Amino acid sequence: MLEELKRETWEANLELVKRGLVLYTFGNASGIDRAQGLVCIKPSGVDYDELQPEQMVVTDMEGVVVEGSLRPSSDLKTHLVLYRAFPSIGAVVHTHSKYATAWAQSCRDIPALGTTHADYFHGPVPCTRELTDDEINGDYVLNTGRAIIERFQGIDPLAIPGVLVGGHAPFAWGRTPHDAAHHAVVLEAVAEMAFMTVVLNANAGVSQALLDRHHFRKHGPNATYGQR
Ligand SMILES: [Zn+2]
Repeated sequence: MLEELKRETWEANLELVKRGLVLYTFGNASGIDRAQGLVCIKPSGVDYDELQPEQMVVTDMEGVVVEGSLRPSSDLKTHLVLYRAFPSIGAVVHTHSKYATAWAQSCRDIPALGTTHADYFHGPVPCTRELTDDEINGDYVLNTGRAIIERFQGIDPLAIPGVLVGGHAPFAWGRTPHDAAHHAVVLEAVAEMAFMTVVLNANAGVSQALLDRHHFRKHGPNATYGQR
């Protein structure tokens, strides 16, 4: 079942390790088959060294396991909330990558300070509010997803394919597992650059014109980046 999606999701999980975004068993990637309404996600607590494509867990949109003998990632419900709210996305990645997490723990949006950021994120990478005690003591993982959706009111998730959860860490997404992992890696790089930039110049900033120029070079009907 969903062999191709399992392999893509497995590869996205390994990409997070390869790029230094996860330690031990932190982090998870999932992908969705929209036609069947099924999600493939990393099993909970399995070492990346031992992770096999066939171990990826398949669940329905309610989180009920449809195939697989292992328990799905404990963050599954956050992924499901994102899939329901953002019909344009096909994969979700969660890490505790160092610099993006530092911004999340500081409860600060990552400001758009240059063209690397603008190539991927059309505006600041938003940070959610912190969850209330009731939300934390209740259905915490689900409420994490809801806080993300609340923060993304009026924001196109494909124009800004990532978020910081206040006090926690980043989530990123994309059309495919490969895209989502790529965005998580770029988000970490952008977070590191922004941190250094703010240290060097607390008033750093660039024009909207420059940010737009770079963003629309890669995205939208007039994109010119890469080969035809
Ligand atoms: Zn986490």
